[in-house]
Amino acid sequence: MPGAFWCIVEDDRQGNPKKVMAEVLGEAARLTGQAGGQAEAVWLTDKATPEGVKQLGEFGAKRVWVLENAALATYRGEVWTPLLADLAAKESPQAILAPVTTRQRELMARLAARLGAGLSADSTALALEEGKLVATRPVYAGKLLSKVTWSKTPWLVTLRPNVFRPAEPQAGASPQVEKPAVSMPTEAMKLVERKEEAATGLPELAEAEIVVSGGRGLKGPENFVILEDLAKVVGAAVGASRAAVDAGWRPHRFQIGQTGRTISPKLYMGFGISGAIQHLAGMRTSKVICAVNKDPEAPIFKIADYGIVGDLFEVVPLLTAEFKKLLEK
Ligand SMILES: Cc1cc2nc3c(=O)[nH]c(=O)nc-3n(C[C@H](O)[C@H](O)[C@H](O)COP(=O)(O)OP(=O)(O)OC[C@H]3O[C@@H](n4cnc5c(N)ncnc54)[C@H](O)[C@@H]3O)c2cc1C
Repeated sequence: MPGAFWCIVEDDRQGNPKKVMAEVLGEAARLTGQAGGQAEAVWLTDKATPEGVKQLGEFGAKRVWVLENAALATYRGEVWTPLLADLAAKESPQAILAPVTTRQRELMARLAARLGAGLSADSTALALEEGKLVATRPVYAGKLLSKVTWSKTPWLVTLRPNVFRPAEPQAGASPQVEKPAVSMPTEAMKLVERKEEAATGLPELAEAEIVVSGGRGLKGPENFVILEDLAKVVGAAVGASRAAVDAGWRPHRFQIGQTGRTISPKLYMGFGISGAIQHLAGMRTSKVICAVNKDPEAPIFKIADYGIVGDLFEVVPLLTAEFKKLLEK
């Protein structure tokens, strides 16, 4: 539908949209409220549950496009892109929005290339000016903000998680559901094996409201256990600096920064991290920043809202014990 703002659904592959969709659909609903048109969800999945569709409606989707096929269980760019591109060519949405996640980053770039459309990646603000979308995105490791406009539709945007105001769920909303025929494109690659990662019980880094992060000051991989203990108490994800990742202490998917993940939690706590500009690029939009470092001159204190100059091996167990007491009350 012309005037539609599509939101590509990120889900847990079990039929449940992720909570970041409240932010994406909330923003789409806010913008279409000004521009006319409507927020719509586009869900590529092997299992579209009625609860999932209902939830998308409650987040603000007036219509949910369900592209359902067993072969869509796993994300593969060369399969998902043509399906979306064909539907977009038929329906001419005005904008296509998606959260910044590993697969949506790739999918949206492929889609932009396929449609010959412009993409504003990792956007942190959206506005309509004279009826046209203007996106704001940080550049040069967050030192500058650039404004992006488009010369033609569809406007493609990925939205940084935890930055946009989530939709207030509208209980009882029932979106129109469209199930277009899905003709699967020929695959260039064959899936040989899929291995599920063991669940840690901790939230996902990009979605977490609280992140505790460790750097070279942790001194070794075995010491991350003290951060995990703290994370369990406060319900946080555990991230790392590149120095910790390069040393092989944590896998790369936990790296925060310019060459890692960009996060924007409500609370970031950094331990034994100096605060190099490339690290700050991945977390400087966190709402509250706390740092623990034994060097009072560490650059991270320049952007920290709260800082403790001290030895993390003393401070972390004290924090964990105090949070435990407070949260158990
Ligand atoms: C192109 C490029 C891309 C990069 N991308 C990234 C990126 O994505 N993410 C990233 O993080 N870095 C990135 N880097 C690397 C970055 O420049 C820094 O080298 C890195 O962030 C440093 O990690 P760190 O703070 O853990 O280590 P260090 O800089 O070595 O700091 C360790 C800190 O721990 C403190 N400390 C030591 N012991 C204790 C203790 N017991 N208690 C408390 N504090 C203690 C020290 O005072 C020090 O401040 C990139 C670099 C380049 C050139």
